[in-house]
Amino acid sequence: MARIKYHYNPETCQYERVRPKKLDIFLNILGFITLAGILGFLMANLLAKYIQDDDKAGLRAENEELKLHYDLLSKQFTEVSESLEALQHRDDNVYRVIFEAEPIPSSVRQAGTGGSQKYQEILNKNLKNEKLVLTAYQEIDKLKRKMYIQSKSYDEISKLIKDKSKMLAAMPAIQPISNKQLIRLTSGFGIRVHPIYKVGQFHPGIDFAAPQGTPIYATADATVKKAVYESGYGNHVVLNHGYGYETLYGHMVNFTVKPGQKVKRGECIGYVGSTGFSTAPHVHYEVIYKGEQVNPVYFFFKDLSSEEYEKVLELASIENQSLS
Ligand SMILES: [Zn+2]
Repeated sequence: MARIKYHYNPETCQYERVRPKKLDIFLNILGFITLAGILGFLMANLLAKYIQDDDKAGLRAENEELKLHYDLLSKQFTEVSESLEALQHRDDNVYRVIFEAEPIPSSVRQAGTGGSQKYQEILNKNLKNEKLVLTAYQEIDKLKRKMYIQSKSYDEISKLIKDKSKMLAAMPAIQPISNKQLIRLTSGFGIRVHPIYKVGQFHPGIDFAAPQGTPIYATADATVKKAVYESGYGNHVVLNHGYGYETLYGHMVNFTVKPGQKVKRGECIGYVGSTGFSTAPHVHYEVIYKGEQVNPVYFFFKDLSSEEYEKVLELASIENQSLS
């Protein structure tokens, strides 16, 4: 607000109001505007610099923070990668060994992704931290590839497990008759004295002596291949288990299955007798693997404890006379 000035007039002996000149008013206003303008300009400049500095500092802090997180993520990424490698190692050296699968060649496991187009796109963007971004993408692609191969390997193994359980069901694994007291095994596999010729002869199976009519069981899941009478084996059944395995049950009094029929492990397929070349009621049991008779004693693992198995091995090794 403009001050009101007075001055003393000695002529009138009165204080009279001083009326400001128009020029003075104009100059005053101009001065004020100029000063305000200069001050405003300075203030704006100061403020802008301050804000700019503040922005820069903020960005720097943000950048530092991001770098720190990137380093932490990289570390975690390495840990994940190492865990995956441990899984691969276990896969190649344990699971694939158990299921008899070849290990996956490292050239396949380490194979690149071939995504060079994607990398080129990143390069074209001329990013400031190009290397950092590119490395991150490449590492992630490698990890994805490794995981894909690993999951494929697990798929293959689960298929093998399925096949293996089928194969285990098809493998002869029990004795062909109930033999809880282990008193039935009378003659083992190998050279045995022939009951009629009284000379050492190769005995291609195991004899279990039992009263006529004792049930005989399929020792694994199978399809009946033969159920016939022949002079040597008498009434006998041959089962085809697949996977190269067959079993033969000889000298039955009669059989209860016919060729082509499917049977399960433990299912009764006939009864003990003494038909064919036999001196007493017994079942002559053979395990045939890929066309060759093998020692059935190695295929009794399912119904025997380890002590019982030792006992069976001992009984089967006695060089006695076979019942044929
Ligand atoms: Zn025999």
